[in-house]
Amino acid sequence: MAPVTENGPYDYDLIVIGGGSAGLACAKEAVACGARVVCLDYVKPTPLGTKWGVGGTCVNVGCIPKKLMHQASLLGEAVHEAAAYGWNVNEKIKPDWNKLVSSVQNHIKSVNWVTRVDLRDKKVEYINGLGSFLDPHTMTIKMKSGDRKITSQTFVIAVGGRPRYPDIPGAVEYGITSDDLFSLNREPGKTLVVGAGYIGLECAGFLKGLGYEPTVMVRSIVLRGFDQQMAGLVADSMEERGIPFLYQYVPLSVEKLSSGKLLVKYEHSQSGEVRSDTFDTVLWAIGRKGLVDDLNLANAGVHTFKDKIQVDSYEATNVPNIYAVGDIIYGKPELTPVAVLAGRLLARRLYGESTQRMDYTDVATTVFTPLEYACVGLSEEDAVKEFGADEIEVFHGYYKPTEFFIPQKSVRHCYLKAVAERHGEQRVYGLHYLGPVAGEVIQGFAAALKSGLTIKTLMNTVGIHPTTAEEFTRLNITKRSGLDPTPASCCS
Ligand SMILES: Cc1cc2nc3c(=O)[nH]c(=O)nc-3n(C[C@H](O)[C@H](O)[C@H](O)COP(=O)(O)OP(=O)(O)OC[C@H]3O[C@@H](n4cnc5c(N)ncnc54)[C@H](O)[C@@H]3O)c2cc1C
Repeated sequence: MAPVTENGPYDYDLIVIGGGSAGLACAKEAVACGARVVCLDYVKPTPLGTKWGVGGTCVNVGCIPKKLMHQASLLGEAVHEAAAYGWNVNEKIKPDWNKLVSSVQNHIKSVNWVTRVDLRDKKVEYINGLGSFLDPHTMTIKMKSGDRKITSQTFVIAVGGRPRYPDIPGAVEYGITSDDLFSLNREPGKTLVVGAGYIGLECAGFLKGLGYEPTVMVRSIVLRGFDQQMAGLVADSMEERGIPFLYQYVPLSVEKLSSGKLLVKYEHSQSGEVRSDTFDTVLWAIGRKGLVDDLNLANAGVHTFKDKIQVDSYEATNVPNIYAVGDIIYGKPELTPVAVLAGRLLARRLYGESTQRMDYTDVATTVFTPLEYACVGLSEEDAVKEFGADEIEVFHGYYKPTEFFIPQKSVRHCYLKAVAERHGEQRVYGLHYLGPVAGEVIQGFAAALKSGLTIKTLMNTVGIHPTTAEEFTRLNITKRSGLDPTPASCCS
């Protein structure tokens, strides 16, 4: 038992382990509610030696650098389009990778700095150290200055995850992950992106836009967990832009040649056919692993499940004083706004008056591929699974963004659909949109869907013309009708 201090038997009311989106939100809110809190954060360097500051994945190696590189790639595309719109773009444009990386890293450092200042202003104690449990109320923290033991009444585990490496020769020595890409000190060049989840596709997308040559290797399906019709269209739109997809292949080994190039051997998972090719970079995007190992959870009695922690609807683990939020919890959307809101609500329930629980349903999200895909609610297949095909109506349509005409951009994959109840009120279960600024389009519709949006309301909503978001108000063709969903007219 820890000695009794002026703060009770424990050093703190709350120790938050992890200074990412979930942990910081939880720690700040708990302090605002009057709790005595310390937040620990520690980043182990990647095998390549990449490391970063406070703020977690989103700020340092996730959403933020990814969106900036996506924007860089969209700008390159826009410059080419500008010529069609009458701009004199005389010089042959090309990107400067090192300049991009340094701009992105400068922004990240400024966010790290603001985060530290914010923690200080909000009186959240922050320790740069790796926490592991000694018992359900005690942690050791490994710090540069040595180890320290601290006790707390309550713990919130918000340690997030890190990219996985495949268990094949050369994977760790020669491959990189998204943890390294945004600060890579050389041009990526011809890149093999292994994995077709959203991170793999986004990275391949911006690398292509920046003028490199990505190839995507897909073990089974593209964008697992997303609507598969939309996933197929995303992949097709990327192939149309010249990104090859190697379907049903798995990597076997990576070797470094004397030229410095990486020789990758890979195998077709059904036929067993083995092929090889050389690349400048191999990027593993095969999934992420929850960071449970360093926590010594067995000492606290916390159960783990597939590198994650299972929690109940109060984010409580199987140990009464230990909670978990963010990417480390099993079976919930791994997204920053989810982590932030869940962390904040948990702190309010623990130290405020609130009883409000996190609602993990109908969370909108965007895949920032060159043609973006955003969605909220159920995929078509999940709606069919839940309600049966006879009870679902899918309204869909292709559309032509006005701004695509002059530069003659492909409109082949600009498509959207509403998955709805077939009878009665025709409640909307899911909205899916593939096209420009997808996140901006879907965010508002997400609020509508959460408020019980019906097809009738959608049809009675007057669109904003000419936008792509208005296409949701023009949806009138059902899949069941078999009618052609390609648009004939623009303004009538
Ligand atoms: C490439 C990429 C792109 C992404 N894009 C998006 C996007 O566009 N939109 C979106 O919403 N989400 C996106 N995400 C997901 C988003 O980044 C995560 O959902 C979010 O960061 C999860 O927050 P978290 O607090 O749970 O974990 P993290 O942000 O990972 O924070 C956990 C922190 O805890 C530290 N830690 C771990 N173990 C210990 C320990 N024992 N002691 C002390 N500290 C420890 C970790 O080093 C880390 O700093 C992206 C992720 C990646 C990788």
